Amino acid sequence: MAKVTVPTDQQAELYQISPGSVRISTAAAMALGLKGGRLYRDAACGCINLIQNYPEGCYANCAYCGLARERPGDPEENSFIRVAWPLHPTSEVVARIAAKEAGGEVGRVCISQVHDKRAYPDLLAILAQVRQAAPAVPVAALVSAELLDEAKLRELKHLGVDTIGIGLDGASEAIFNQTRGQGVRGPHSWAGHWRIARLARQIFGPLRVNLHVIVGLGETDRDLVELFYQLRDEQIACYLFSFNPEPGTALQHAPRASLTRHRRIQLVKYLIEERELPHGAVAFDELGAMIGLRAPAAVVEEAIAAGEPFMTDGCPDRHGRMTCNRPYGSYRPGEPFRDYPFQPTAEDVAVIRGQLRLAELDRGE
Ligand code: SF4
Ligand code: SF4
Repeated sequence: MAKVTVPTDQQAELYQISPGSVRISTAAAMALGLKGGRLYRDAACGCINLIQNYPEGCYANCAYCGLARERPGDPEENSFIRVAWPLHPTSEVVARIAAKEAGGEVGRVCISQVHDKRAYPDLLAILAQVRQAAPAVPVAALVSAELLDEAKLRELKHLGVDTIGIGLDGASEAIFNQTRGQGVRGPHSWAGHWRIARLARQIFGPLRVNLHVIVGLGETDRDLVELFYQLRDEQIACYLFSFNPEPGTALQHAPRASLTRHRRIQLVKYLIEERELPHGAVAFDELGAMIGLRAPAAVVEEAIAAGEPFMTDGCPDRHGRMTCNRPYGSYRPGEPFRDYPFQPTAEDVAVIRGQLRLAELDRGE
């Protein structure tokens, strides 16, 4: 990407940078009335997801991200983020959050950092505005881990953040390094992300810290399953995303995980987290692909019928119900749902069963 040559102190007016402006997800913009239209099948959008805006996007360089430093094109041509995440004055967004909260309830606000030296003070500035306008709304900070330290994590908690999200994204150290670390001249380190995740886990408590993990960056099923066990044991939440190639990024032509693979991964994750699936119940071939699932048929059947394993993973609202359902977060309108932003219907469950193709796995029966 061409470099932005405007000095930092002159960027605010030209580029509507944070903290005066923020980007907001399309679904959240609809929920706040900043954008017209309806979500497919009237999915409700419970969480207002905000992301910081700087002219160069992000100084990290993740291979799949439309904000990455070295993506092709000019900053001004960054169409993905402009279309999918419209830019608004923070004051206007916050006023609408307050108005929506006054007329009902906002499930949660999530403020997302990019990797930029301004990102921490600007996170505090946006957080202060949200907390002042809507003090009862739970707030998550989706942080760029290596911009933080223990003092900053404690400060965020003190200022009202109840949940820390961290984009680990890569399910193994090798995949992380290839897509976010040295392999792409990025600043991120696997060890640094885990260090901050564990510090945050100590400070915020069980399941108040989550790692975002992407299915489809080249990891094996074994990588994912081992990670699910690890995070369950540490009481750190794991929220799945599905790789969806972004035009203009280094991985724009990379294939996606099949729906069958994605559904099986969702099912196994649910069984590990919610049904105490024992270690060794998932069998893999020599390449790490899942070939067997040895769990009681009734338990597997009940999980599938409930539909819950296939819903979006996300932070809860103030009542403990999942609210960050990210409509279109992992797929485009018109494509099959990768994760359902609402309770799947009986017809949806029938479709899911077909996608799972469980009869092809060794069930140990
Ligand atoms: S740190 Fe986040 S915003 Fe920045 S390039 Fe990586 S994925 Fe994108
Ligand atoms: S699950 Fe949603 S609310 Fe929670 S940290 Fe991730 S993006 Fe934010």
